[in-house]
Amino acid sequence: MAVSKVQPAGRTDSALAAGQRVFGENRVQEAATRWAGRRLAIPDLRLHLVGPLQTNKAADATGLFDVIETLDRPKLARALAAASGKAGRSPACLVQVNTGLEPQKAGVAPDGVASLLGEARELGLRVEGLMCIPPLGEPAGPHFALLAKLAAANGLKTLSMGMSEDFETAIAFGATHVRIGTALFGARDASQA
Ligand SMILES: *Cc1c(COP(=O)(O)O)cnc(C)c1O
Repeated sequence: MAVSKVQPAGRTDSALAAGQRVFGENRVQEAATRWAGRRLAIPDLRLHLVGPLQTNKAADATGLFDVIETLDRPKLARALAAASGKAGRSPACLVQVNTGLEPQKAGVAPDGVASLLGEARELGLRVEGLMCIPPLGEPAGPHFALLAKLAAANGLKTLSMGMSEDFETAIAFGATHVRIGTALFGARDASQA
């Protein structure tokens, strides 16, 4: 997945011209501005939300994204289920896991995965896998291993893990999706991030 947040349109256009079709964005509004008008022209475009989602944006996100990778609480699961019912369109979901138990980071704690998954499935959401962002400055391998173990324990196949700095490690631990921003597009403008 090409993570295009904050990147100028010229760079995403080059990626499209090269055949890239799966893109990740971390903000609903920015993603809508960039992609909503191009859906019809690019029928095989696949959009993933990789940033935190507020419940009041659940309807917009449901209308725009194919996969929401940041399901991390029951309230959001309920908002997404309600929005999907209204829209007649239901994105696939991944549960974001806070493998490092970092207080400032989104994601459900590892021991909360099974229960959130149960609630989401009961609401009719299509949960296909797990996603994590390991703590900065720590070896990522143990976090990827934990995510793979949790997915296997819960019968989930999709593992979204690995970014520009650690995607090779993530692949070694079984990633099915790697989320690559700067290694594809170059540095982001930090003032926009
Ligand atoms: C920005 C971002 C990425 C891409 O990060 P790079 O280090 O630029 O590859 C991947 N995943 C998430 C959740 C992000 O917010």
